[in-house]
Amino acid sequence: MDDIVIIGAGEAGTRAAFATREAGFSGAVTLIGAEPHLPYERPPLSKPLEGAVQMKAICTTEALEAAGITYRPGRTATRIDAASRTIALSDGRALPYGKLLLATGARARRLACLGAERALDFRTYGDAATLFSRAETGGPVVIIGGGLIGMELAAVLRGRGIPVSIIEAAPRPLGRAVPPRFAERLHARHRGEGVRFHLGLGLTEITSDAVMLADGTRVPAETVVSAIGVLPDVALADRAGLATANGIVTDAFLRTSDPHIFAAGDCAAVSQPDGGTTRFESWRNARSQAETAARNMTGAHEAFCAPQWFWSDQYDLSLQVTGLPQSGHQSILRSIAEGELEFYLEDGRLVAAAGLGTGNGVARDIKLVEMLIAAGITPDRSALADPAVNLKGLLKSARAA
Ligand code: FAD
Ligand code: NAP
Repeated sequence: MDDIVIIGAGEAGTRAAFATREAGFSGAVTLIGAEPHLPYERPPLSKPLEGAVQMKAICTTEALEAAGITYRPGRTATRIDAASRTIALSDGRALPYGKLLLATGARARRLACLGAERALDFRTYGDAATLFSRAETGGPVVIIGGGLIGMELAAVLRGRGIPVSIIEAAPRPLGRAVPPRFAERLHARHRGEGVRFHLGLGLTEITSDAVMLADGTRVPAETVVSAIGVLPDVALADRAGLATANGIVTDAFLRTSDPHIFAAGDCAAVSQPDGGTTRFESWRNARSQAETAARNMTGAHEAFCAPQWFWSDQYDLSLQVTGLPQSGHQSILRSIAEGELEFYLEDGRLVAAAGLGTGNGVARDIKLVEMLIAAGITPDRSALADPAVNLKGLLKSARAA
């Protein structure tokens, strides 16, 4: 039987290890993780509860043992020998594999300005623990990057009364994955909470007590966090001669250019029918790709096609986005008791939606919208806009039709 080795014990690697068992695989499964802890979830790191950084384990030691998964924390896979199907580990051992999953995730992108080494990264539990212990002094924090991490951290730090400035290279924060309407709302909320924004500006230097901007502005800082995005971790794949291009290139079945090696999660660039690749950086994508890869490594032949979804919590607001909203889509707005939903249509078909609000209403509605999208509906636009028209009712009629 082909033993399975998984490199990377994040969301994708750990979920894949369990999914091999759920698929009925009874051979050896080994999970290698560079970090020293039990596998843990990253989303809670930027959403700490009552001041404490959350270490939310993905599984317990008992669950790993019960599933017969050999977990090797604190070890790095340093080399893949694809010809002999062996990997080398940082502890000097070699490990043979029948099938190998690369779930190496992504690394924080580094700043390149003078004094860049003074900025903290924010990717791991260790990074989160360092930032929140430094922030205990209450001194001003400057966050470089107004993306999802930057904005979530700003909300947490303002909640503790800490002065926060965000420096963002683009003219607006959250310009990447968040639909403009909701990016603007979140931006306004942050301004209302006292976050100071410096937009459309680069920085020239990080000194011991400030960040210097390209226009000469000096932004006082006791702590500086860099949250300027991530780069897929492709070093191992590159050295093994696998195809890479902004990620480890896979086919639709999540197989890399070597048929015995698969990739999933933040590191995987999945080939698309139009000839390009797509790579996503979200929790659900990591889980669903891991499940597909695990089934394919154990004998299935399933193309990856799970819908995309992510959420973000900032202050008491919850943002949810399903599908991939594009500027060319027709958008339809619906007010709901706790906030707003925006639906996105392509040639009349519902393909994506986003919502922003308080409480659980947005999450509940977005779940229903995901089912409407899966049903392939071409909805009546006035019905979508009308809060009196129940989404459950729309789903029922779509299914009946
Ligand atoms: P990773 O989580 O990066 O795990 C990869 C692991 O592989 C790492 O532990 C790494 O150390 C290890 N590794 C790499 N190379 C080697 C090697 N050679 N040998 C051994 N081990 C190796 N997504 C959402 O949808 N919603 C959210 O609210 C959200 N919040 C987030 C908040 C933060 C602070 C961060 C950082 C991310 C957040 N995300 C969120 C994104 C989500 O967490 C990631 O998309 C997800 O963790 C990706 O999982 P992964 O397993 O592919 O990669
Ligand atoms: P991100 O969402 O890609 O945002 C990074 C931001 O920094 C972008 O707006 C980028 O602008 C800006 N930037 C880049 N270089 C800069 C510079 N030199 N100076 C100032 N601004 C600069 O990345 P992130 O916020 O760092 O998050 C990292 C990862 O965690 C991502 O994978 C993200 O998806 C994930 N995450 C997800 C969630 C969630 O889903 N809720 C929450 C937290 C984190 P440009 O776009 O113009 O380059």
